[in-house]
Amino acid sequence: MNVLLHSCCGPCASACVPRLKEEGHDVTMFYSNSNIDTRAEFEKRLEAAQTLAAAEGVTLVADDYDHAAWLRAVADGYENEPEKGRRCERCYRYNLARTAAYAAAHGFEAFTTSLTVSPHKPSAKIFASSEDPTFLREDFKKREGFKLSVRRAGELGLYRQTYCGCEFSKRTSREEAT
Ligand code: SF4
Repeated sequence: MNVLLHSCCGPCASACVPRLKEEGHDVTMFYSNSNIDTRAEFEKRLEAAQTLAAAEGVTLVADDYDHAAWLRAVADGYENEPEKGRRCERCYRYNLARTAAYAAAHGFEAFTTSLTVSPHKPSAKIFASSEDPTFLREDFKKREGFKLSVRRAGELGLYRQTYCGCEFSKRTSREEAT
């Protein structure tokens, strides 16, 4: 199938692109991450995703960056939610809806997401975040997906961020560090 892969970052996507290719799919990466707190960080992660796309020989499409719109649609009133809580569920829905819309508008047969690679992201919640029948519910954590992503990111020298993306996740990272 012709699959659009929502790519939250290069390291996570590095476990997904080869797996989808092995399964016989044609992959296009879709970098849609208005959840990221600053444009500088958005660009840094985009650069890592572009390095991966070039190494894998796949096309990467970068969505517009609009953090103010994301704050209004997702975080307003949910700022104090813990990570993996309701703000995150809203965030998964937001990014998957944008991916689904792009996939439908550009003739993709299916879409999926690299979000399931991370051990910090419950796959069941991600799978429940889109009703779209073309959503390919691939659990990239399986078969050591996270370990693979760490190894591949190291080989390609990809930037690996220390927080999920929004300003509220920076608070969680600080709490975890203390
Ligand atoms: S912590 Fe991560 S998943 Fe949760 S709202 Fe922030 S950017 Fe989105």
